[in-house]
Amino acid sequence: MSKIAHYLQEHLVGEVMTSTDARRYFATDASIMALPPALVVYPRNENDVRKTARFTWQLAERGRVIPITARGAGSDQTGASLGNGIMLVFPAHLNRVLELDTKSGNVVVEAGINYGKLQQTLQTHGRFLPPYPASLEYSTVGGAIANNASGEKSVKYGDTRRYVQSVRAVLSNGEVIETGRVSKREFNKKLGLATFEGELYRAIDTLLEENREVVNTMYRDISKNNAGYNLLDIKRRDGSFDLTPLLVGSQGTLAIITEATLTTEPLNPQTTLMMAGFNDLQSAELAILELRRDHDQPSLLEMIDSNVLAQVAELNPNLLKGIMPAPYPAVVLFVEFDALSDRQQKKEARKAAKIIEKYASSLQVETEPDLQTQLVKVRQATGTLLTRSDQAGRALPIVDGAMVPIERLREYIEGTYKLCTKLGIKPALWGRIGEGNLQFQPVLNISQVGDRQKAFRIMDEYYNLVISLGGSISGERNDGRLRAPYLERQYGSDAHALFIRLKQIFDPYNIMNPGVKLGTTQEDIIGLIRSDFSLGHIYNHLPRS
Ligand SMILES: Cc1cc2nc3c(=O)[nH]c(=O)nc-3n(C[C@H](O)[C@H](O)[C@H](O)COP(=O)(O)OP(=O)(O)OC[C@H]3O[C@@H](n4cnc5c(N)ncnc54)[C@H](O)[C@@H]3O)c2cc1C
Repeated sequence: MSKIAHYLQEHLVGEVMTSTDARRYFATDASIMALPPALVVYPRNENDVRKTARFTWQLAERGRVIPITARGAGSDQTGASLGNGIMLVFPAHLNRVLELDTKSGNVVVEAGINYGKLQQTLQTHGRFLPPYPASLEYSTVGGAIANNASGEKSVKYGDTRRYVQSVRAVLSNGEVIETGRVSKREFNKKLGLATFEGELYRAIDTLLEENREVVNTMYRDISKNNAGYNLLDIKRRDGSFDLTPLLVGSQGTLAIITEATLTTEPLNPQTTLMMAGFNDLQSAELAILELRRDHDQPSLLEMIDSNVLAQVAELNPNLLKGIMPAPYPAVVLFVEFDALSDRQQKKEARKAAKIIEKYASSLQVETEPDLQTQLVKVRQATGTLLTRSDQAGRALPIVDGAMVPIERLREYIEGTYKLCTKLGIKPALWGRIGEGNLQFQPVLNISQVGDRQKAFRIMDEYYNLVISLGGSISGERNDGRLRAPYLERQYGSDAHALFIRLKQIFDPYNIMNPGVKLGTTQEDIIGLIRSDFSLGHIYNHLPRS
């Protein structure tokens, strides 16, 4: 490999590293897996990315395949930012805001920009990028685009895909494309291009036209779906065409994103936040359904269950003292409104309070930021669970982010409790419940064979539950390596075969982040599991989910 490192260092402006230290650092992300790269490249400009891709393409033409994995901050929980070839690390240099139109709020950024930093910049102009993940302080915008990340505000504002107007991306042969919706006429021009881009447009158009029925089966009636590839919004009825919705969420397996043009929303830091306790799941479900049916959507609708509170109180007795006394309600909901007009916000909050009061045993409404912090403290107490490390083990991100239709919420939660009882796991559930999303990180000691086996049983049965309820195994999070073995179970063999064909169109030599989304089996995962799972490299900020 050192010959390759030498060649790249000679031709790239950015640095190339093969040191054991660097390889060890990039061998882990926030998943339970480990896989050291052969070498690490810090591209200084798009040309470095282009040249690296061109070089590996030429090697592959001669029979030697060296994978490329684009890496943001490596906070992915599914092993998607791991690879055994070239690790292209974006945050080091490609981390700037290139343009900010303060009138429209549109912003052009390089992929490696830190999400939190971008958010601060936008906030000074009274705007924000709403689908920020909980990991925003330590993750990148490129990673969020590649994962189609979403977060606490997505119940009202949607996922990342909604905010990406276009991207600049490097294809597997080193060619650079710029995406964005093109009209039918412009699309016909694209079909005539004699380049790899032209080939892509032709092949994808044929794939879509010949497989309309199979593509339609990929739709799920849920807030967000990151499982597989998004083939549903490329070609519209008016004949317009756009590769952006496909590349967003494709986890670096189709192309490498270097720049993105994003839209943003006006920010209102003055919100109304509510915390409501419910004695039983059924009452909480009725309140959630009614709140979601209402025309005025809350800007946040999350839950934690009594088990979260009990476990937090056990691990960190003073955290909830004076804010949330025991006995704990079965379910606690957090509901927020952020309408820009004060009058409108008050109206929405009053309406929501009326709904909640019908079902809840307690309700606290706060508009003062100082008082709201107490409620936020309860909501974010899950950080204590994520960072626990004791004899029982650690909370493992193995089934995070699945999503079901909200009408099936109660079955989802009850099914998860049942599964925990069956497998002898202490349940603790939280999540963006307004979207039908649950977070659940079973505590296991992954260094022990018995617990590893249990982890696979949990994945197997949990995904069966989600699929049986018409949901998606990758709703808020993405597939990565961890969920690749379950993708066919969710979609069936015809749709899965289409994903494989799509990947071959973009990446005929399987260079772009292979093993992510496709081509990883349960046996592969067993071989990659690390015995020392920790979130160590992100402890600068308290990890929360
Ligand atoms: C505690 C915790 C909480 C989290 N909360 C959330 C949450 O609320 N919502 C959520 O959606 N996710 C969440 N995540 C998952 C993850 O942090 C986010 O998806 C985040 O956006 C990933 O950004 P990153 O820079 O770390 O990307 P990485 O982990 O580096 O990469 C993620 C994927 O993107 C690809 N990629 C990175 N850069 C590029 C590029 N330039 N071009 C092409 N592909 C690229 C990688 O190859 C990989 O497939 C959480 C993770 C942790 C550990």
